Amino acid sequence: MRRSIAGVALGLLLASGTAAAQSFSTDNPVLKRIWALGMDSSQTYQLSQALFDSIGPRLTGSPAYKSGSDWLIAKYQSWGVQAHAEQYGTWRGWRRGVTHIDLVAPRVRTLAGTMLGWSPGTGGRTVRGELLMLPDAQDSSAFRAWLPSVRGKFVAVSYPEPSCRPDSEWITTALPDSWKRFQEMRTAERSAWAARVRGLAGNARLLSLALDSAGAAGILQSTWSGGWGSHRIFGTTTTHAPVVDLECEDYGLISRLAQNHQGPVIQLAAESQALGEVPVFNTVAEIRGSELPNEYVMLSAHFDSWDGGSGSTDNGTGTITMLEALRILKQVYPNPRRTILVGHWASEENGLDGSRGFVADHPDIVAHLQALFNQDNGTGRVVNMSASGYPDASASLARWLSRVPSELTRGITFQFPGMPAGGGTDHASFDCAGAPGFGLGSLNWDYFLYTWHTNRDTFDKIVFDDLRSNAVLTAMLVYLAAEDSQPVSRERRTVFPTRAAFGPGGPQGTSWPTCTPPPRSTADYDREVLEREQQQRQAPQQAPRRP
Ligand SMILES: [Zn+2]
Repeated sequence: MRRSIAGVALGLLLASGTAAAQSFSTDNPVLKRIWALGMDSSQTYQLSQALFDSIGPRLTGSPAYKSGSDWLIAKYQSWGVQAHAEQYGTWRGWRRGVTHIDLVAPRVRTLAGTMLGWSPGTGGRTVRGELLMLPDAQDSSAFRAWLPSVRGKFVAVSYPEPSCRPDSEWITTALPDSWKRFQEMRTAERSAWAARVRGLAGNARLLSLALDSAGAAGILQSTWSGGWGSHRIFGTTTTHAPVVDLECEDYGLISRLAQNHQGPVIQLAAESQALGEVPVFNTVAEIRGSELPNEYVMLSAHFDSWDGGSGSTDNGTGTITMLEALRILKQVYPNPRRTILVGHWASEENGLDGSRGFVADHPDIVAHLQALFNQDNGTGRVVNMSASGYPDASASLARWLSRVPSELTRGITFQFPGMPAGGGTDHASFDCAGAPGFGLGSLNWDYFLYTWHTNRDTFDKIVFDDLRSNAVLTAMLVYLAAEDSQPVSRERRTVFPTRAAFGPGGPQGTSWPTCTPPPRSTADYDREVLEREQQQRQAPQQAPRRP
């Protein structure tokens, strides 16, 4: 049934693709063939299905990350493209197993829970324990006095949401006064809870580690995204206590039972395997340049993901965009003027580690990089582009974009010269080194509410019409950049200093990103986290980054 629907949809697309192709006027045979291959015989559906359904999420250090990289390399090789894995360090190895969690008293209910990445399991046992809420203690000494009581028990550490309905529903359906009252109550409670966590342990990470050392049977949290059933599933560094994220209202239920002294008991069976330090690597593919082999155009998208879903839109769709673009380029432009490289980066989610590793290890490529195109904000068609703060590079981008069919560019807002990359994704790793990296910004499709880092980041969320367009757009830009007789200017615009320089309430500014040495091991990374936390304590008014 599903197949036949897909067949019908594909038929319609073929028709519309052909019609659009006829309205795209260019006498450039390469652009014409890129369009034809990308629109009429796209492989984005098959590639996405194989990667996201059968291999799934690609948490850094997991066997699935390695399987995914092997799959990428095999795909490239089947198209006659050279590809290899390139190690830049090591990372904590970990394999996810089955998680099952139930409320067993005062009544039975199977809970919707997902163990966090890198979490310890229950060691082959089913563990049962009473549930405690984080105490309303005044300070860290009261917390230390309470800590011994957690041994063998589960501890709920997140704020229990009073309503798991999305705000959009409150806004459209509630009486204005009741929405206002609800918001005021929730805002006050959320900030009191955050203050409680800070007062007790400093931050959520340190709180988990303290409960872990005190012998808690498990740590229960709830990182609701604000949408129906959607939760952000990150990682943990506890070594004994499993950490499980519970669905918004399952967490609300057990919290209310505990707060009202109704004796909630939790039962958990969680399997996972710590694999020690394992190699961590990017996957790099290449079509060698024929005239200027030592100048480069790069396609860029991080390959790692969080593992609550299948990482389909963060950054599965960016990955497929680059993979499909290279498949097309290999067929229509097998002897590019400059060398074309694809970087599928590791460990972006932890702080752009893979791309920083590549930049540190390949100063020659970075010095001769004509342009890099990175995509990392979901499945939507590209609607934002910027010259990333390189005023004279604007001319190159404008020249290329003017040759791309308007079917692909008409919805795009361009910012010339734009601002330097903010550090949220991998092109910042190149921009900090002075190399022109450009972001392809996608239409939202409820990315931050539903799929970014969530358990709902799955295959069904992919919008294939948009994905196909993005692969074609990227292939065309890469072709035009690789052929261009003029090198892209690296002249940087002057920018305002960051807001920190003016103090709170000062003007919103920015700064050019600075390159820092990439972490080469888990220990390096843990040190970096400590330094970042220290900086945040010193400059709390700066917005956190969003890898
Ligand atoms: Zn991402």
